[in-house]
Amino acid sequence: MPTLYLVPTPIGNLEDITLRALRILREVRLIAAEDTRTTRKLLTHYEITTPLTSYHEHNKLTKLDAVLDALDVGDVALVSDAGTPGISDPGYELVKAALERAITVVPLPGASAAVAALVASGLPTDRFLFVGFLPRKDKALRDTLADLREERATLIAYESPNRLAATLAAVRDVLGDRPVAVARELTKLFEEIRRGPASAVLAHYLESPPKGEITLVIGGAADETAADQPWDEDRVRAALQDRLEAGAGRKDAARAVADLAGWNRRDVYNLDLQ
Ligand code: SAM
Repeated sequence: MPTLYLVPTPIGNLEDITLRALRILREVRLIAAEDTRTTRKLLTHYEITTPLTSYHEHNKLTKLDAVLDALDVGDVALVSDAGTPGISDPGYELVKAALERAITVVPLPGASAAVAALVASGLPTDRFLFVGFLPRKDKALRDTLADLREERATLIAYESPNRLAATLAAVRDVLGDRPVAVARELTKLFEEIRRGPASAVLAHYLESPPKGEITLVIGGAADETAADQPWDEDRVRAALQDRLEAGAGRKDAARAVADLAGWNRRDVYNLDLQ
């Protein structure tokens, strides 16, 4: 019975591919790849000579039958340029069509920027919502965030470096000054994970515009709901200290913390930090 394998590939570091993934790529009859040149480099690195065919965003519907026909005669592996196929990459339509033809679909676990960013974010991992790429236009972006305002799960979004500041500003304005983590260039030489309130992380990237690939993780609404109960003084002091250390001005920091903590802004501003 032919099988469609979903094979994750590295998101930067070429070592991030499993032994099983390499064996499957070697053994299948055909590899359907988002960009055959990108995948060819990976295959060459691992001395794999399996034939490749292109399967990308713009031919994913017209190419469907050809890939399904190939599955009539042997196993096929689907790969994207990086990470897990089907996650903001082509895959869903092929999996659906394969299942409709009663073809076995086997997922291999492996790299995905969304999960890597989430687990290192320091934000709750018990419940999360992956939202893919957020809208580019400011109004659509803010409307989308407004729809997510009550969402208690941690949010994960893919973002481009030149859009990051606008998105962080929209997060701060629409969702409040929530904790965020910007995971940049994961697994690569210049990997960086910057954590803090949206306003402080925004201030940093306005100062030093980011380069490279970015995954943004945003704290869910749960912490804000907890603000229904006023915070104790130690927690308020720690939050204020964090924001000041992250570069926020005392007035902005006090306002943000007071809003979250259910405190009077002046009382937060006047807190003695020793
Ligand atoms: N399927 C892929 C996965 O599972 O990670 C995601 C594909 S999506 C088209 C590409 C986006 O993922 C990038 O624009 C960036 O937002 C994010 N991304 C990919 N590699 C990354 C990395 N090394 N560090 C941080 N984010 C990354």
